[in-house]
Amino acid sequence: MQTAKVLDTAALMSWPLVQLHGGVAVEGQIEEVRRLSEARLVEIDAANLKWMEPSEISIEKATSLAISSGDLAGLSEVDLRLLALTLEKNARLHTDDYRLQNICQMAGLSWSSVEQSGISQVWSWEIRCEGCGEVHKHLQGTIPASKEIGRCNNCGSRLSMKRKR
Ligand SMILES: [Zn+2]
Repeated sequence: MQTAKVLDTAALMSWPLVQLHGGVAVEGQIEEVRRLSEARLVEIDAANLKWMEPSEISIEKATSLAISSGDLAGLSEVDLRLLALTLEKNARLHTDDYRLQNICQMAGLSWSSVEQSGISQVWSWEIRCEGCGEVHKHLQGTIPASKEIGRCNNCGSRLSMKRKR
């Protein structure tokens, strides 16, 4: 059997659909993706992802790993669940979060960074104003996990992530 791949939100946002196929993610990420881009959520609906939730026991194990590496404080609920699923499925975690990478490294779990997963064509995103359409370049290259991206400093409209034109 192939090793399952657990995907963090950066992977959900940037990987081509064909690469997402069969990947595992947690339900809390649906809301994260929706906040970043509704259009992307519609797209990845076609990618045949498996939305799963780890067991309580796996969450407890993940929590104690995070405590012993000193990373617990910086982890979100979604991060912790992704780690728990990785443990539970004996999967490979694809994440750009250095805390999660650190825990996996320490615990001997397999992981890859999202950018260096051997995928040649990663979609790129830009942060664009929904009002005036300005691209906010200084925010580029960051995928904010679960917060609002913010407001445009020109016109005050909401910013959102769009696929690069
Ligand atoms: Zn604007």
